[in-house]
Amino acid sequence: MLYIGWIHWNEIGTVKLMNRWINYLTDNKDLVSDDIAVSIIPCLNIDGYNKAIHNKNFFSRWKTWKTNARAVDLNRNFPTSNWKEKSILFVWGCYSDVSGWSCAWSDPEIQALIDYIKSESIETIYLYHNCWATVFWKWSNQVTKKVQEYSKISWYRIFTDTEWLNLSEEQKTWNSMTWAEENNIDIIEIELKTRWGSEWKRNKDSLINSLII
Ligand SMILES: [Zn+2]
Repeated sequence: MLYIGWIHWNEIGTVKLMNRWINYLTDNKDLVSDDIAVSIIPCLNIDGYNKAIHNKNFFSRWKTWKTNARAVDLNRNFPTSNWKEKSILFVWGCYSDVSGWSCAWSDPEIQALIDYIKSESIETIYLYHNCWATVFWKWSNQVTKKVQEYSKISWYRIFTDTEWLNLSEEQKTWNSMTWAEENNIDIIEIELKTRWGSEWKRNKDSLINSLII
């Protein structure tokens, strides 16, 4: 089982949440049963994070950084069957071009991540973003149960199949969800509601519950 924070934009709240989760599990090791292993990556987009926090406009112009330092949207860099060099991202009521670089799987963050997922035989991934306040997935019965439980406890609403289907094709190309579906791995995306806080209280029980379902 793998939990991941900050894949793009300024998703600082997800890093805070992942650090809270690491500290909590360190103090409560008995929560993790012997038959599962838990990995946590607090910040996948480490050079994007570094670039963002050293920018003087970090607090006022947080919309600026959606990519890593090579201007690649890491959530558009997964090697999927529908990969394309350019795509469209829908954010804050606007469509904007984003780059997945000149080929899929070009960037070391995604190369290392996929190597790790495969070498550790990871079956379930919780991927955190800001800030739609939703839980989102594709589409097995097992993952549906996980999503329903996470939503019920956290009060983040479920982003529905219909909403997914109504997104433009450009929004659905080559992202982690498509890659997960093609590789038979459950990925659940949780969008925190706000950008700056960990929302620990809202996520804590859902995270604990995620260890047992
Ligand atoms: Zn995101």
